Amino acid sequence: MEKWQYQMQNQINTIDKLVEIINITDAEREAIITTNTKWGTTPYFAQLMDRDNPDCPIRKQVIPSLKEKENRYGIDNYLVYKENRSTVEKRPDTIARQYHDRIAFTVMHICANYCRHCFRKELVVDESLQLRFDIDEGLDWIRDHAEIRDVLITGGDPLLLPDEKIAYLVNKLREIPHIEIIRFGSRVPIVLPQRITKDLLKALGGFHKVPIWLNTQCNHAKEITEHTAKAVYDLLTCGVNVGNQAVLLKGINDDRESFKTLHQKLLTIRVRPYYVFYCEPAPGIDHFRTPVEKGAELIRDALRGHTTGLAQPMYVVATNMGKIPLMPDYYIQDKNSDSYTLRNYRGCVTTLPNIPR
Ligand SMILES: *Cc1c(COP(=O)(O)O)cnc(C)c1O
Ligand code: SF4
Repeated sequence: MEKWQYQMQNQINTIDKLVEIINITDAEREAIITTNTKWGTTPYFAQLMDRDNPDCPIRKQVIPSLKEKENRYGIDNYLVYKENRSTVEKRPDTIARQYHDRIAFTVMHICANYCRHCFRKELVVDESLQLRFDIDEGLDWIRDHAEIRDVLITGGDPLLLPDEKIAYLVNKLREIPHIEIIRFGSRVPIVLPQRITKDLLKALGGFHKVPIWLNTQCNHAKEITEHTAKAVYDLLTCGVNVGNQAVLLKGINDDRESFKTLHQKLLTIRVRPYYVFYCEPAPGIDHFRTPVEKGAELIRDALRGHTTGLAQPMYVVATNMGKIPLMPDYYIQDKNSDSYTLRNYRGCVTTLPNIPR
């Protein structure tokens, strides 16, 4: 058995296994028993949790909370609404479409960590939404739609598929003449870096005119280890580009220090920050959500000007109409027919001539 398969088969997903790793609180115990929710993580990721502190940023992403029972702002049937699954265009279950030229290709519902803040909860955690994961049907649809140039393979976690299936998917997509790039959304480099094996790299890697871009999800610097760094290096070395899509999470990364350190540390392991997402209005995750402005404030107060330009993600909210940027808007302080007054990160102003149209 490979190391990653051992990690999956020995998931930490019962109270008995959990108490061997951390001292759980009464509230955590009650949440696990009474919320009746799918939860669990790899032994590797579980070891990164703080033994005693329930406020640990990793612990909060792994262990169910009683707050998941509350739902004031979440939208019912969120995924069907958000991924336009009930629109007139007839599409296979695997295809989610919001744009003309690119789609999300949902290939499975298993994950290595059942993130408590997951917006796909209905599909991967509650399993109340069941999709037919017919990969060939999805491939046929893509083949028939010549306007699609970019396929984002997602889940669940698509890198938990067997190597042969991943190779099949990638090879079939690369044979389609209108496909220019293939993307993977996968938390595996963070929660199960052991999955980045030689055989997987054989399926993904090597020079090809249809490149692969992988976006992972890392929400706190504590999630980054030497194993993560090695997995990313191996991916890059075989030609797979690696980016990060963080989720803005209350009490986890919504303070300046955590937010800045996360983005700086990603660069030290060669990961380029791509997006920070506003925590979406899926049901049962109200307690992770901040005011919408929070992300823009953090970019203004912790990143822009305060650290390396490469460390800057775009802050967006993923909606049923696609992603909408919510970046800070303080830069142009004033404008007249002659000039703009621009403000920098320290609040100092400078001017720029206004060129007529
Ligand atoms: C996020 C998403 C994409 C990709 O969006 P980018 O901004 O290009 O990264 C494409 N299709 C769907 C349905 C998505 O949710
Ligand atoms: S890895 Fe992604 S899809 Fe899976 S539970 Fe976490 S956020 Fe949801």
